[in-house]
Amino acid sequence: MSGSAVPITGRRQFPWLRKHGLTVRLGACFLLITFVTVVVESAENWKPENNPVWVVNGILLAYLLLAPRWRWPAYLLTGFLALSIRSVLIHERWNELLFYNVLNIVEVTTGALLLRQRSTMLPRFTERGYLIRFFGFAVLAGPALAGGIHALAFHFWEHPALQHPFLSWMAADGLGIAIATPAFAAVLKTRLRNTVDWRRNWFYPAFLLGVTFAAFAQNRAPLVYFIYPLLVLVLVRLGLGYASLFAILVAAIAQWLTICGYGPFAAEGFISPILSSLHLQAAVASAIMLIYGISVVLERQKATERRLQETVSLHKLVTENSRDLIILADFNGNRSYVSSASESMGGWKPEEASALAGLQLVHPEDQPKAEAAMRALRSGSEGAMVECRVRKRNGEYLWVEAALRVVHDPGAGVPSGILNIVRDISERKRSEQQLQDAYRAVEALALTDGLTGLANRRRFDQYLATEWRRGMRARQPLSLLMLDVDLFKAYNDSYGHQRGDSCLKQIAESCMDVVSRPGDLVARFGGEEFVVTMPNTESEGAMQVAEEICEALRSRRLPHNGSPLGIVTTSIGCATLVPAFGKHAPDLIAIADYALYAAKHNGRNQVCLGDVPERREEGTQLQTVAVTTA
Ligand code: GH3
Ligand code: MG
Ligand code: MG
Repeated sequence: MSGSAVPITGRRQFPWLRKHGLTVRLGACFLLITFVTVVVESAENWKPENNPVWVVNGILLAYLLLAPRWRWPAYLLTGFLALSIRSVLIHERWNELLFYNVLNIVEVTTGALLLRQRSTMLPRFTERGYLIRFFGFAVLAGPALAGGIHALAFHFWEHPALQHPFLSWMAADGLGIAIATPAFAAVLKTRLRNTVDWRRNWFYPAFLLGVTFAAFAQNRAPLVYFIYPLLVLVLVRLGLGYASLFAILVAAIAQWLTICGYGPFAAEGFISPILSSLHLQAAVASAIMLIYGISVVLERQKATERRLQETVSLHKLVTENSRDLIILADFNGNRSYVSSASESMGGWKPEEASALAGLQLVHPEDQPKAEAAMRALRSGSEGAMVECRVRKRNGEYLWVEAALRVVHDPGAGVPSGILNIVRDISERKRSEQQLQDAYRAVEALALTDGLTGLANRRRFDQYLATEWRRGMRARQPLSLLMLDVDLFKAYNDSYGHQRGDSCLKQIAESCMDVVSRPGDLVARFGGEEFVVTMPNTESEGAMQVAEEICEALRSRRLPHNGSPLGIVTTSIGCATLVPAFGKHAPDLIAIADYALYAAKHNGRNQVCLGDVPERREEGTQLQTVAVTTA
C-alpha cells in the first residue's frame, strides 16, 4: 500500500493501523481462526454426532487469496499456530497435532497455489470462470488430497474401511471452504468499506437475523425459505461484503440452534445426525452460492451500466461541445434531440428549437430545396446536403449547411429518422459574396471605357454578336450608328489632349442624352469614334436618332476654332440590316463605316445612311440624309 495516498475510509483516524498493517492482519487472522476452531471444537465435543463443518481452512484460504504470495508463509504459520491451540486444548498427541495441522496447511496451500497461479490475481467470485476453478481446485482438489492422505494414514494406523475417513474429510472441509472462503474473502476484500446508509437500511439485516432465529428455533413454520430472499435483499441493499458477513452470521445461528436440537435440521427429524448436519451445511452453502450467483449478474449489470454511462457521457461531451448543431428528427421533421449549439448559433434554446415544426425556420426562398432533400431521404437516399438560410431568434437569417443522414434503428435495421448536422457558413457566404462583387466589379471594368464611362469596344463586340443572333431569331432589323468627331485632330492641336478628352466626355453625354431605349447601347469604338447599337430599329428610326445626336452635340456649342463652323460637330454613318444566314455582324459595321466615310466626304456634320453591300456593288449611291448646318 502506498504510504502517501490518502486513505478512502475511516482508516485515516488510525495511522498505526496502516503502519503495522501486516501485524494487525496476522493477529486478526490468528484470533479469528482460534476462535472459530475453539467454537467448532466445543460444538463437536458437546454433540459429536453433529459433525460441524470445518470452516477454518476456508478462512485461512480467504486470507491467502487476498495476500501477496510472499506473505503466505506468515499466514500459514499463523494458521498452524491457531490450529495448534485447539490441539493443545483437546490434549492431542504431538504427532497427531503435527500430522493433522500440517494436513490442514497442505490442503489450504494446494487450493491457494492452484487457484492463484499469478501473484497479482485477486479472488473474483463474481466471475463464472473463477467460481468454477474455485470449486475444482479449492473445494475438491485440496480437500481430496488432504482427505486422501488422511485416509491412507488411517488405513495404516487403525485399519478401518478406507472410504469413510476420506469422504467425511472431503465433506467437512470441502463444504467448509465452499462456505467460508467466498464469504470471508468478500468481507476481507471489501473490508465493509462501501458507504451504507444504515438509517435507511438497518431493517433488512435485522429482519434477516430475526427470521433466521425464528426459522431455526422451531420446526413447525417453514420460515427457512424466507432466509434466501432476505439475503438477496441484503445483497442488493448493502453489497456483497455485508451480505457475506450476514450469511456467515446466519450460518452460525443456524448451526448453533441445530446443534442445540432446534429447527428443521435438528437431528431428531433425521435418520442420522450426520445427515442432519449435511442438510444444514448444504442449505448454508447454497445460500452463499445464491448470493454469489446473483452478485455475478449484478456485477455484470453494473459493468454494463457503467459502460453505458461512459458512452452516454462521451456522446454528451461531443454533442454539447460541438460548434455544429446536431439534430435528431423523424421523417416528418419532428425533433427528438437538439444540441445546445442551437443557442449559440441561432439564439434558440434547444427545447424551443425542438418544439418548432419541420422547415419552419428555413427561409421561404430556400424551402423548395430543403423539401427536395427531405423527399430524397424519404424515398431511400442515404444522405443529402442543403445550403439554406434559417431564421434566428432575433429575426435575422443565417446561412447554414445542413448535412442530412438517415439513421437506422439498431435493432430492426430499418430507417428510423434523420441525423442533421448543421454548420454555420455565414462567414463563407460573406466571403463568397465579396468575391462575387469583386468579380462583377472587375468584369464591369473590363467592359467599360475608362474615359467616358460608356461600354468599351469589347462590350460592344459582345453586344452586337448577341443582338445579331437575337435579330436573326426574331427576324427583326438591327441598326448601327458609327459616329466620328469632325476635325478632332485639329481640336487637339488647338486645345491640347486634356481638353480633347473632356470634349469626348461631353460628346458621350450628348449621345446618352438622346439614346433612351433600354435595348440601345452606346459604346466607344476607339479614339474619337462612337457606335450606337439599336436592336429592332428600322433605318428611319436609326437616322432619326443619328440626327438627334448631331443636333444634341451642336446645341452644346462646344467651341472649336479649327472647324469652319466654330463648334464641335460630328458625322454619323448609319446602317440597318435584318440579320439572316449569309450575313454577318461585321457587315453592319462595314456598312456604317462606309456611310460614315461618305458623310465625311460630303462635308462632315451630317448623317449618312449606308446601303447594303450588294446594292453598293451594283453602283447605287449612298443615300445622304439631313445635312444640317448650325
Ligand atoms: P475627320 O473630320 O476627318 O475625322 O478629321 P479628324 O481630325 O477627326 O481625323 P481623324 O478622325 O482621323 O482624327 C482622329 C484624331 O482624334 C486623332 C487624335 O488626335 C484624336 N483622338 C483620338 N483618340 C483620342 C482621345 O482619346 N483623346 C483625344 N484628346 N484625342 C483623340
Ligand atoms: Mg476618327
Ligand atoms: Mg474625326
